[in-house]
Amino acid sequence: MVMDEKVEPFYNEVIRHNPGEVEFHQAVREVLESLGPVLVKYPEFAEHKIIERLCEPERQIIFRVPWQDDKGEVHIRRGFRVEFNSALGPYKGGLRFHPSVYLGTVKFLGFEQVFKNGLTGMPIGGGKGGSDFDPKGRSDDEIMRFCQSFMTELYRHLGEYTDVPAGDIGVGTREVGYLFGQYKRITNRYESGVLTGKGLEWGGALVRNEATGYGTVFFADEMLRARGDSLDGKTVVVSGSGNVAIYAIEKAQEMGATVVGCSDSSGYVYDPDGICFDTIREIKEVERGRIVDYAARRPNAVFRERGKGDATIWSIPCDVALPCATQNELTGRDAATLMKNGCTVVAEGANMPTTPEGVRAFVDAPGVAFGPGKAANAGGVATSALEMQQNASRDSWSFKHTEQRLQEIMADIHHTCYETAAEFGSEGNYVVGANIAGFLRVGRAMVALGLV
Ligand code: GLU
Repeated sequence: MVMDEKVEPFYNEVIRHNPGEVEFHQAVREVLESLGPVLVKYPEFAEHKIIERLCEPERQIIFRVPWQDDKGEVHIRRGFRVEFNSALGPYKGGLRFHPSVYLGTVKFLGFEQVFKNGLTGMPIGGGKGGSDFDPKGRSDDEIMRFCQSFMTELYRHLGEYTDVPAGDIGVGTREVGYLFGQYKRITNRYESGVLTGKGLEWGGALVRNEATGYGTVFFADEMLRARGDSLDGKTVVVSGSGNVAIYAIEKAQEMGATVVGCSDSSGYVYDPDGICFDTIREIKEVERGRIVDYAARRPNAVFRERGKGDATIWSIPCDVALPCATQNELTGRDAATLMKNGCTVVAEGANMPTTPEGVRAFVDAPGVAFGPGKAANAGGVATSALEMQQNASRDSWSFKHTEQRLQEIMADIHHTCYETAAEFGSEGNYVVGANIAGFLRVGRAMVALGLV
C-alpha cells in the first residue's frame, strides 16, 4: 500500500526517533497506511496530534535482571516493560521471554496491543514487556529464580489499576505463577487483578488458556460466514505449537475442519490424518518436547526439518491458514504458494506473523480474506479482561458462559472491522477495518482526556 502524504511525515519521524527498531517501524507503518481517510474525515485528530502521541509510549522501563543458574553461575539479562497507552484503561499486555527480545520487539508488540485492546471494546490500555532470557532447557528452579528477579524490579510499576501483564511467547501459567507469588510477597497484597493468565486454583479464569487459539478460529469462521461458508469440512494449516496453535488446532477440529500441519522452530509436521490434539498437547505442554516427537508417535505423519530444502509449512495445501508462531514467519513467497494451492482465508493467531509483502499479496488478491492479528488474535487479551472482571467481583464463571462471551466478542470485532472497512471505502479489507476501528476508539478517548 502507498502511504498517504498526510501520514508519511509521521512515519519518517518515527524512524528517525527510534533508530534500528525495525519491527516497531513495520507495525507503525501498517497502521499509518490505513489512516489517511480518517484524518480527512475527522480533522480533530490532527489538531490534537493524536498520531504523534500514539507513536510515543507513555513510559518505557528497562532494567537489569540478575539470576543464578542451578550450578550457581550468575547471569545478567535485560528486562523491559513498555507502558504504551492508558487512555482506555490500565496498561494491558503480555510478557515475552525469548532470546530475540529487544526494545524494538517490545515496542512493536505494545503498539499493536493498543489497537487490539481498543478493538475488543473492553476497558484496557496497551503495554508489553519481556526479556531476552532464553527459557529453553532451563529447569523449573531456574525459571522460578529468573521470574522472581524479574518481578523484584517490575512490581513497583504494576497494579490492578496501573499495569496488568500476562503471558506471551515463553511465559505461560507456570511463569505467571512465579511472578504472581513474588509480587504477593513483596507487596503483601493478594491482588489477583495484577496479572492475568493465572492458574485456576489461584485466581485464574476458565477459557483464558485456550482463548487466543479459540478466538482466532472463531474469527476465521466469521470471515467464512461473511461469504456464506463455514469452517466445517475445511483443510487447515496452523503454524507453531505453543499456546495459541494448540488451542487453534483443538477448536478448528471441533468445528469440523481437519488440521494437517503444525510446526516449531526446528521444523514442521504434516499429518494427513489430522493433527492429534492430545498428542501435540502432551508433547508441548507436559513434556516440553520437540515437534519431531509428534511424527514418531503417529503412523502417517512426516517431519521436515527447518532449512532443509525450499518447502515451508506454507507449502502444505490448505483452504485456511492460521499463522500462530511468531512475527514475520509468513513471507510474500509463502503467501503466493498458499494462494496457488487454493487457500482463501488467513487469520493471524500470532502478532504480525505476515511480512508486509505477504499482507499486500493477500489483501490485493480477489476472493481472499485476510484477518490481521490485531483483530483475529484479540480473544486472548479480551478473555484476560474477563479474568480481571471476575477478580474484581471475586467471582468465577463457567467454561460455557466464558466461551460464549469470547465467541460474541470475536463476532463483534469481526462486525466492527467489516463495517468500518466498508465505511471508509475498503470493503472486505480487514486490515484497514481493524486499524481504523482500533484507532477511533483510542483516539477519541485521548481527545476526551485532554493533553496528558
Ligand atoms: N500476549 C497476548 C497478546 O498478544 C495476551 C495479552 C494479555 O492477555 O494481556 O495479546
